[in-house]
Amino acid sequence: MHIKIDNTMFSLVQGDITTQDTIAIVNAANSSLMGGGGVDGAIHRAGGAEILEECKKIRKEKGTLPPGNAVITTAGKMSSEYVIQTVGPVWRGGKNKESDVLRNCYKNVLTLAQKENIKSISFPSISTGIYGYPIDKASKIALTTVIEYIERHAFFDEIRFVLFSESDLEVYENSLKKLTL
Ligand code: ADP
Repeated sequence: MHIKIDNTMFSLVQGDITTQDTIAIVNAANSSLMGGGGVDGAIHRAGGAEILEECKKIRKEKGTLPPGNAVITTAGKMSSEYVIQTVGPVWRGGKNKESDVLRNCYKNVLTLAQKENIKSISFPSISTGIYGYPIDKASKIALTTVIEYIERHAFFDEIRFVLFSESDLEVYENSLKKLTL
């Protein structure tokens, strides 16, 4: 599904984020920045050791990355130039500021990308795997936060959500339809 929002191409696709050709891809990392499972593991495997080296440097300089924050590293061997690393909230029932933290992830990634003059980005569905955030709720937050940012800033050429499974893509498509109708 592709739509135009002002001058930005906005897409929802099914696929593997490690093979996307946007200038940056986003990692759903954990606070340690030392790699993990899910999309994090896939990105480190595809990008190679260079990513972990940069993450180690960031750890030394700044310590762990709090949930909702974002930092930038190389994408190593992948076709993208950068990985923007962010840490989503762990779902603990929904009353522990999970939605605020998830919103901050998307906002801080976009703000950092704009600061670095990165005009195309691929996002995974942050927090909806190992961190257990219900994807229906998470998709609405992801989409509204990103679309609001695009409308406000008129900066990006392309924003792509890359959903790993067909059912995840369907959830995002249904949420987007509800927003844009
Ligand atoms: P979190 O810990 O933030 O929940 P996960 O990596 O466990 O992060 O899951 C986030 C989402 O990323 C899940 O929907 C999962 O299916 C998806 N995912 C896993 N591998 C990939 C990949 N290679 N490309 C895109 N999405 C992926």
